[in-house]
Amino acid sequence: MAGPPPAICRGTAERPGLGRFLLSLICGVVAVAATMAATMPAGRAFDQDAPVPLTPEFIRFFDKLALTEDYGPFNNRPPWVRKWAGPVKVVLDERAETLRAEIEDLLARITRWTDLPFTVMPPGASAVPDAWNVINVKLLSRVTFQRLYKTRDVVCQTETHGLGGLLQVGYMVLSEGFTDCLKHEFMHALGFDSHWYPKTRSEIRSVLAYRDSSARADDYSPWDIMAIRILYDRRIRAGMNREKSLSIAHEVIRGRPQSAALPVQAASGSAFR
Ligand SMILES: [Zn+2]
Repeated sequence: MAGPPPAICRGTAERPGLGRFLLSLICGVVAVAATMAATMPAGRAFDQDAPVPLTPEFIRFFDKLALTEDYGPFNNRPPWVRKWAGPVKVVLDERAETLRAEIEDLLARITRWTDLPFTVMPPGASAVPDAWNVINVKLLSRVTFQRLYKTRDVVCQTETHGLGGLLQVGYMVLSEGFTDCLKHEFMHALGFDSHWYPKTRSEIRSVLAYRDSSARADDYSPWDIMAIRILYDRRIRAGMNREKSLSIAHEVIRGRPQSAALPVQAASGSAFR
C-alpha cells in the first residue's frame, strides 16, 4: 500500500440531562461519556436472566448503538461496523490499578459474548505509542479531569480510533469517584459509539442509556448482551455497511429469537461464537 491511509478519530459522548454535545480534541471529534453525580437516579434494576423477546425495536436499538451517527454535523463517522479483531491489550495507568480486579471480571464476561481475548497488562506496563489493539485506561482525580477537559459535569470519556471500521486503539479516561461508568465506557470501547435514548416508551434497558434516563441499566442488560453478541458475530465484519450488517443482524436474531439472555450454547455451530 502506498503510504498509510488517514486515521479516523471517533468518540462517544454522554452528558446526562443535556443530551449530546461535541468536544473537539486530539485529532477530530471526540465525544465524551459522562455519568453524573449521585443525585441522579440509578438505573432500574431488572432480572438479567429473564427471557427477552427480540422485538423489532431491538433491531432499532442495535442500529442506533452500533451503526448510526449520534453526534451531529461535526462528526463524520460513517454508519459502518466498528469492532476489534484479534487479542486486545488493556493498559492501566497507575491510578487505574485500583480497578484491575473489576476490569478483569468485566472483560472476562465480555470475552464470553465476543470471543475476543483481552489481556490486562501487568502493573507498570506502559502504553506503547502506535501499538495496535490496545485500550488505555486512565483514572484521573476529579479536579484533574475537570481541568483537562474543561468540564464540570462530564466524568468519564472513551474514544476509539481505527481504520475502515477496524478498531486499533482506545482511550478511556475516568474520574475518581465515578468509576461506575466502567460498563458504559467498555461498551463504547467495543464499538458502540452511540447512546440509547428512546423517544417513546421502551422496554429496552441499557448501560448506554443516559444516567438520568429510566432506560439506564446498572449492569449489561440482556439487550446489551445480545447487541454485543451480534456485533461480534463472525459474519459481521469491521467496516461492513449498515444495510448489510442489519441484514445479518436479522439472521442472527432469527436463529435465536427467544431470548437475548440465554447462555451461549456449547455447540460449535453457535452463531454467537
Ligand atoms: Zn457514553
